Amino acid sequence: MREFPRPRVLLSRCIEFDACRYNGEMIRSRAVSSLKAFAELIPVCPEVEIGLGVPRDPLRLILAEGSERLLQPSTHRDLTDPMLEFAAGFADKTEAIDGIVMKAGSPSCGPRGVDIYPDATASVPVSKGSGLFAKAILKSYPGTPLADERELENPAFCDHFFTRLFVIADFMQVRRHESGRNLLQFHAENKYILNAFSRREYRELTRLVVNREGRPFDEVVREYEQRLRVVLARRLLRSSHVAILERAAVHLFAHAAEEDQAEIGRTIESYRASTIVLEEARQRFRDWIERFDESYLAHQTYFEPYPECLLPVRNR
Ligand code: SF4
Repeated sequence: MREFPRPRVLLSRCIEFDACRYNGEMIRSRAVSSLKAFAELIPVCPEVEIGLGVPRDPLRLILAEGSERLLQPSTHRDLTDPMLEFAAGFADKTEAIDGIVMKAGSPSCGPRGVDIYPDATASVPVSKGSGLFAKAILKSYPGTPLADERELENPAFCDHFFTRLFVIADFMQVRRHESGRNLLQFHAENKYILNAFSRREYRELTRLVVNREGRPFDEVVREYEQRLRVVLARRLLRSSHVAILERAAVHLFAHAAEEDQAEIGRTIESYRASTIVLEEARQRFRDWIERFDESYLAHQTYFEPYPECLLPVRNR
């Protein structure tokens, strides 16, 4: 297994950490539980932090004169301002984070798809949006990988989320070291991952790191980070993975006997036809890379972008 960076992940405290939900319960999440071994989790319960007890009467988001308010209908309390103040203070005193996992559906933490009601008593929502704390936090950490615990039950979503999370955590280490050489190395080792997201953007990033114009490192790394966060948010397509596997196959063919070459080709076709999952194709490539001692591919993070055990089930 390659050596992974240890990402810092902001987490809704009621997931796997504390029974702090309005009804005194805690949420179980296999993905978050597995992540504990590989990430520095930063749990926070914004509703408890603004002084609400456990258990407590539930909150809801309402639309009032065009803006969203956070209410506790049973007490008629409007908690919008305390929540926004807490979010601003939290972002000010919290160092950089690499990812965010929040509780689905919560009017405070839910990242998306949260019910928004026309008033404090209506039973039917008028629209969907983000929880108040989540929305404010995202403004402070733009381009940060974001998931809720339900999304992390989906293997394809997980693959994308964990790939982004570990690439960004790796990049942030490079950024802290302030070394152009480290940036070049990061770019080279993530070549296949970046190409899977966008070949065009990979070329733009290459132009940046080569830096023929001699721009200051700070300026280069800032633009690199901005572009990296945007490109990693794109959808990963099966056809993009196939193109990367075909590229890697060219390197393997230089070492492989005829029957191995045929097996490599069959693996790519099986993945293209969805008869094997991505992780299985990657595992077979890892085995060939090791067997053929293929040093160039061995350094490509694409073949092991995050600790494999984080995936809930095999990734089709
Ligand atoms: S969803 Fe957020 S506010 Fe609600 S209990 Fe969990 S951490 Fe606290």
